[in-house]
Amino acid sequence: MPQSRKLALVGIGKIARDQHLPAIAAEAGFELAAAVSRNGRVEGVPNFTDIAALIESGLAIDAVSLCTPPVGRHRIAAQALSAGWHVMLEKPPGATLSEVHHLEAQAKSAGRSLFATWHSRHGAGVAGAAAWLADKQIRRVDIVWHENIRVWHPGQEWILAAGGLGVFDPGINMLSILTAILPGPLRLADARLEFPAGRGAPITAMLEMIHDETAPVTADLDFRATGTPRWDIVIEADRGTLTLAEGGARLWIDGAEQPGDGIGEYPALYRRFAELVATGRSDCDLRPLTLVADAFLLGERIETDPFAF
Ligand code: NAP
Repeated sequence: MPQSRKLALVGIGKIARDQHLPAIAAEAGFELAAAVSRNGRVEGVPNFTDIAALIESGLAIDAVSLCTPPVGRHRIAAQALSAGWHVMLEKPPGATLSEVHHLEAQAKSAGRSLFATWHSRHGAGVAGAAAWLADKQIRRVDIVWHENIRVWHPGQEWILAAGGLGVFDPGINMLSILTAILPGPLRLADARLEFPAGRGAPITAMLEMIHDETAPVTADLDFRATGTPRWDIVIEADRGTLTLAEGGARLWIDGAEQPGDGIGEYPALYRRFAELVATGRSDCDLRPLTLVADAFLLGERIETDPFAF
């Protein structure tokens, strides 16, 4: 039986309630010991309005899991590491690459684990996709990542502010899957970003990438799509075609659906965090955030109509 560590959950919003609380309750590695949020509360544990108050309380804590928006996450993570706690970060791991590099260095010198999570990598079809692609030559990749921001992020003004990533908030899930399943490196070649007037983050993005310097990879990201969302990746390889649909949950190879595997995205994240803590390691793969940063560096920016939630 693995040791159960005391965990504080920070940022009690949509994902904390929908996924983190049930996963913590279901997994053996962590016991919820506190919640930290300015407005949100969790019944049955002590609640604090910020991380400094939790530290000052002297409550015994081993680890924190951060579910706040990316801007501001660095300050909380740095305070938690200074308090001697292990840190798990929701995706994206930060608002900038340099702040996450700083956290990596801080975790290393403190001898604590830092886990930058990518929940979509634990979708039921993702491991099977990676295994099938491992010995294939990739010819081309086409991605459609369409969802309705009003349905999936109701009222989340932060997502369209600078640092909120806009359509890359879901789009980075796609990049986390791609970087996990494609056998070679991925490079951003071109991008076109649409920003609603007065907003600091894009609502659509068209990306052109290159896999292993040979295969074109196109991605069409749209946060304004109504109707059934589409989170689809189609990969044409030398010996067949793979379709990963529903954000990594379902896998087809040459038209035949494959059985899924895994224990669920968020239970898998907490199990992995427990392993990292137990073995004194960190896991901080910044390739998805690097591709997003490259799109902001290189992308043509076009102003579109104002957007209201
Ligand atoms: P959310 O519903 O807005 O919740 C975030 C919580 O963080 C808020 O309820 C707020 O609680 C707290 N917070 C602290 N500082 C904040 C600030 N400056 N602005 C707004 N809220 C602040 O967002 P979410 O959907 O849970 O997303 C949080 C993170 O999880 C994001 O990085 C997102 O990419 C990731 N994620 C979301 C989903 C999803 O489907 N929604 C899925 C996977 C991952 P208090 O007001 O109580 O402090």
